Amino acid sequence: MITIKHLSKRFEKLEVLKDINLEVENGEVITILGPSGSGKSTLLRCLNGLEDMTSGEIEVAGSTVNTEDSKKKQLNAYRQIRLHSGMVFQQFNLYPHKTVLGNVIEALLTVRKWSKEKATKKGEALLERVGLSEKRDVYPSRLSGGQQQRVAIARALAVEPEVMLFDEPTSALDPELVGEVLAVIKELAKEGMTMVIVTHEMEFAREVADRVIFMDEGVVVEQGTPDSFFNQPKTERARKFLNKM
Ligand code: ATP
Ligand code: MG
Repeated sequence: MITIKHLSKRFEKLEVLKDINLEVENGEVITILGPSGSGKSTLLRCLNGLEDMTSGEIEVAGSTVNTEDSKKKQLNAYRQIRLHSGMVFQQFNLYPHKTVLGNVIEALLTVRKWSKEKATKKGEALLERVGLSEKRDVYPSRLSGGQQQRVAIARALAVEPEVMLFDEPTSALDPELVGEVLAVIKELAKEGMTMVIVTHEMEFAREVADRVIFMDEGVVVEQGTPDSFFNQPKTERARKFLNKM
């Protein structure tokens, strides 16, 4: 579902990602862990074109972007990738002037050109899935952080993505609201959604991940099953990181 080959990313002189190679299988859930500044967000952003790669190649849901390709070809591929993937951020980024339902069905109306009726039906089903049917006509400012994040997940799911990318979906939430968002993500995992999740929630990473990726200073330092990573980290860097958590 995702293949990353020799991905490097520089901001001016700062090398943030250094020759990353990674594959994510269909239906696999991987969590990316690592200290602040290690390049986790930048990696996710390169996967859907929010950030340009400096060099390398990615393939997501059947579309390939290679930095050797023409700009036009790269943009087209990223457009395809965004049609087939959903991204959820730490800050929920909902449209404040649209209702909950309006947020969820926005892409169906504008990108997919669905009729209002068809989109509304789909939007209602999605809200039910994240447990927010009764908030349908409310504006985001009236929702708790956990509810807003669940709306953001429903919105990302609207286009039936083949893969979901999460960048610290719970780190802006009060502790008591974290659980409801993680529950929705766990449910998606159970349904077989392919997911890449950057998180600081170690317990959750352990529970939901098929594979844990540990990054530091722009490289994948080690990876393995949650059990092997948390019980027997192979590197000193991972041990240090886990001891601090
Ligand atoms: P955190 O856990 O704090 O979210 P992260 O692992 O997601 O960290 P990134 O946000 O990917 O880290 O940042 C990696 C490095 O790239 C950092 O040194 C950061 O300062 C730098 N960086 C990120 N975005 C930019 C940018 N737009 N311009 C310049 N430097 C950037
Ligand atoms: Mg980050």
